Amino acid sequence: MAYATPLETRIAKKTTKAIVDFKMIEDGDRVMVGLSGGKDSWALLQALDLLRQRAPIDFSLIAVNVDSGYKDFKHDVIARTCEERGWEYRIEHTSIGELMDDILEANATPCSLCARLRRGVLYRLAGEVGATKIALGHHLDDFVETLLLNIFFSGALKAMPARLVSDNGEHVVIRPLVYVTEDEARQFAKQSNLPIIGCCCPACGDLSLQRQRVKRLILDLEREHPGVKYSMLKALGNVMPRHLLDTRLNPSGELRDSVALRAEEDATSLIQIRH
Ligand code: SF4
Repeated sequence: MAYATPLETRIAKKTTKAIVDFKMIEDGDRVMVGLSGGKDSWALLQALDLLRQRAPIDFSLIAVNVDSGYKDFKHDVIARTCEERGWEYRIEHTSIGELMDDILEANATPCSLCARLRRGVLYRLAGEVGATKIALGHHLDDFVETLLLNIFFSGALKAMPARLVSDNGEHVVIRPLVYVTEDEARQFAKQSNLPIIGCCCPACGDLSLQRQRVKRLILDLEREHPGVKYSMLKALGNVMPRHLLDTRLNPSGELRDSVALRAEEDATSLIQIRH
């Protein structure tokens, strides 16, 4: 069965590659898609549904929306869209919004606490709906932005895993859009006529200043050097521990090989010559 548009083909190829590279979905899996109603989660659900119809393996999908309890949240639109498209879904009404107001410290950024609370609900629901995998809509831009945020502001060289087994070993979280850019996800959700819904929380659309700055930085670099984003993503899969300073990975530099030592000696003598 051919894909309907070039964009659909591209998204399907990238998503399939991610699924294969990271062994995300296996025969018999029941994949629970975290559906916020934003462009990324709709794009993910649509992409997985397309693959499900063509894949050589059998897997099923269920979309789950965690309603934080904000008054104007349009969960009815999510329900209607899923029904129209024949997608199994569940909407879980919670009081996460209220809880956040109670426990969030003044001036703290709400999104990480919110994500943790929602993740807890998703884990519970995964058990209830019999899901074997939990799919989230993080895309390529999320990965590289998180990498830079951690380097610049947290002193850690890390992004996020494409496939993660929860601490208690009970849940497997997958991010099949790791190779899909934010722009592609946006276009794909639009082309698929999916209704983009705001989460209605007070912080909705109000990205942290640090994330906004990092987004702008990557955008500027991408304009000057197209492909920077892909290079950063490639770097995440091309780690050279010996060229880092983490002594847990390279105790006392013991792993340095003779080639690296020779290169260092060459560089030192070059510096001496220039002086
Ligand atoms: S914008 Fe609001 S709903 Fe979305 S993650 Fe942040 S706090 Fe949660």
